[in-house]
Amino acid sequence: MSIQNNLDYFNQQIKNTSAKLLAVSKTHSTEKILEAYQANCKIFAENRVQELVPKYEALPKDISWHLIGTLQSNKVKYIAPFISMIHSIDKFSLLEEVNKQAKKCDRIIDCLLQIYIAEEETKFGFDFEEAYQILDNHNFENLENICIKGVMGMATFTENTQQIRQEFKSLKSFFEKVKNNIHKKNINMTEISMGMSSDYQIAIEEGSTYIRVGSAIFGNR
Ligand SMILES: *Cc1c(COP(=O)(O)O)cnc(C)c1O
Repeated sequence: MSIQNNLDYFNQQIKNTSAKLLAVSKTHSTEKILEAYQANCKIFAENRVQELVPKYEALPKDISWHLIGTLQSNKVKYIAPFISMIHSIDKFSLLEEVNKQAKKCDRIIDCLLQIYIAEEETKFGFDFEEAYQILDNHNFENLENICIKGVMGMATFTENTQQIRQEFKSLKSFFEKVKNNIHKKNINMTEISMGMSSDYQIAIEEGSTYIRVGSAIFGNR
């Protein structure tokens, strides 16, 4: 299947749902990204700053770039001028650094808190309690150059679809809890980033607003 065909397929899958398609282009060439771009895909996600920056520089400027991988504080400055959204905020100190660099660029950067929903030990993120405490803290509003737009999560890599569904449900209900209980200028809960090539269908059914699809669009890495 061509990239164009794969994109058509996913655009069909998300039609009349809450989900938007985020094309995960990590490890793939700028040629392949351009092919997707020419098929009218304008939102891409990368997981490494070192790979994202050269792609940003080489490719058309009307692309919005999302970061979905672990971000080190000392790399924030390289993406602050252009990044559309950071899905992988996993420490409060990282959020402070994003705020600082965004201020230097006179921008407000949209961020998602990455929440640990899987049973595997290897996945990054906050637990629900930590994430809630951070947003609820009275100092949080001082971060004027970031906006928390929602949450991101990765389900356990398993064949057990019931478990995956349960993990997505838990992320959705945490999202609702924050949305209903915490009202601050720099929090605007609209996004739930969940679902990848293997589990996007369940994620859409459970209310995902961003499915992050890599291999099912671009082929295996
Ligand atoms: C690589 C990656 C994806 C996409 O994975 P595929 O299985 O290729 O669709 C989604 N989310 C994150 C955080 C990733 O690192």
